[in-house]
Amino acid sequence: MLKIYNSFTKQKEVFRPIVEGKVGMYVCGPTVYGPPHLGHARTYTNFDVIYRYLMYKGYKVKYVQNITDVGHLVGDGDDGEDKIQKQAKKEDIDPYEIAYKYETLYFDAMGKLNILKPSISARATGVIPEIIEMVQTIIDKGYGYVTKAGNVYFSVRKFKNYGQLSRRTLDNNLSGERITVADDKEAPEDFALWKRAEKNHLMKWNSPWGEGYPGWHIECSTLTKKFLGKTFDIHGGGIDNIFPHHECECAQSEVANGQKFVNYFVHNNLLTVNGTKMGKSLGNFITCEELFNEFDPMGVRYFILQFSYRSPMDFTKKAIADASAQFEKIKDAYKKLENMTHGASDKPTGEAEDILKRITEAMDDDFNTPLAIAELLRLVKIVGSLGEGEVEKAKGLLGVMQKVEFILGLKFEGEEKRSSGENEEKLMDIIAEVRSKLRQEKNYALSDFIRDKLQESGITVKDKKV
Ligand code: AMP
Ligand code: ZN
Repeated sequence: MLKIYNSFTKQKEVFRPIVEGKVGMYVCGPTVYGPPHLGHARTYTNFDVIYRYLMYKGYKVKYVQNITDVGHLVGDGDDGEDKIQKQAKKEDIDPYEIAYKYETLYFDAMGKLNILKPSISARATGVIPEIIEMVQTIIDKGYGYVTKAGNVYFSVRKFKNYGQLSRRTLDNNLSGERITVADDKEAPEDFALWKRAEKNHLMKWNSPWGEGYPGWHIECSTLTKKFLGKTFDIHGGGIDNIFPHHECECAQSEVANGQKFVNYFVHNNLLTVNGTKMGKSLGNFITCEELFNEFDPMGVRYFILQFSYRSPMDFTKKAIADASAQFEKIKDAYKKLENMTHGASDKPTGEAEDILKRITEAMDDDFNTPLAIAELLRLVKIVGSLGEGEVEKAKGLLGVMQKVEFILGLKFEGEEKRSSGENEEKLMDIIAEVRSKLRQEKNYALSDFIRDKLQESGITVKDKKV
């Protein structure tokens, strides 16, 4: 029975989806104004494992992520420049180019980490009409107000459940920690639903309140409603998102939709450097690309999964190097099993079955990856002591490792095997070049012979006129 730690109740709860057998899951995506760093790698790897494990358990999962390509301002008090626009000026290119460039880098890096793409990845700029509609609904219901300057704010004091997630109350929290606050707010804790664009603002749209752009939080409320409905199962993000981002999402959605926003809020702890959050704006980050120049991405993924998603985790290169070395040993065990069994796995029995059971129990307990890995290491030890004749046992152990490959998203097979697809492509390019040369030399007999042989093995070749 799967249990998930719910940030709403601050305890582990049995997971019960709204519709039996199906799960709707939303995770806040990146703000695409810089290259992805190890902090992103941590959050999205952990949610990838959650996605994978839900699928492993037989759920049909609709996993939605957003791409924040507008509206995330530099200042916390709804002031300051848009992060994307600031970067666009710095690089002297269009803000849409900035967003697309870093979105591409994000998916490239996530791909290298073997993170599955979500079922839907949606950009904030793709849902502006729906955002305007939701803001209008909030105004109509009396929770939003338009200022003389043309900004629209959410009136926090009117929403009695504000603080339900972060447990912050209006008295103990809200404005005090902010450095500067937009000066046309009725109250400092109110937050922007829509911002009026200044003349030099680059990404802006017409709205009933003049030319402007959305506040940061409203995109997630709009996208969840569009793709997952008014109430859905799981909402995720880093713990830095709890306040103000997720608190504001809850307020907006519950006002606009008139019902509960989400059943389980899941928050991933942060990756820190010397105890401080790794972040783009703090400048203390190491990009995924830099890391992958030094370490196999699978070693990095293994490093991440050695920690529970709710534990703090500090970055050192030594810790990644140690994890990578340990991961190589796991790969060696996999190779030994493959060699012994010629790749034929079997249903785990006996010791292998026990290990698989303990791995799924660990994952059922709020996705306890370090415990699952401890069981995997126990299995590796057994593989080390396997004698040549123990092929049947090896088949069961291989079966377990293949299941773990899917659940944890770790690739155990060697580099040679992984790159064989790439080699095949290269080989096909060479064959195509040879045939093209033959045809230029009018040696059609040999060129056709190669084509026929390829066709016999199921590869169709189409010739252009020479
Ligand atoms: P951002 O690109 O800052 O909008 O962040 C996108 C997601 O990555 C959010 O869910 C953040 O919580 C998460 N994230 C950013 N920095 C870190 C970090 N240092 N450790 C873990 N997650 C992070
Ligand atoms: Zn969000």
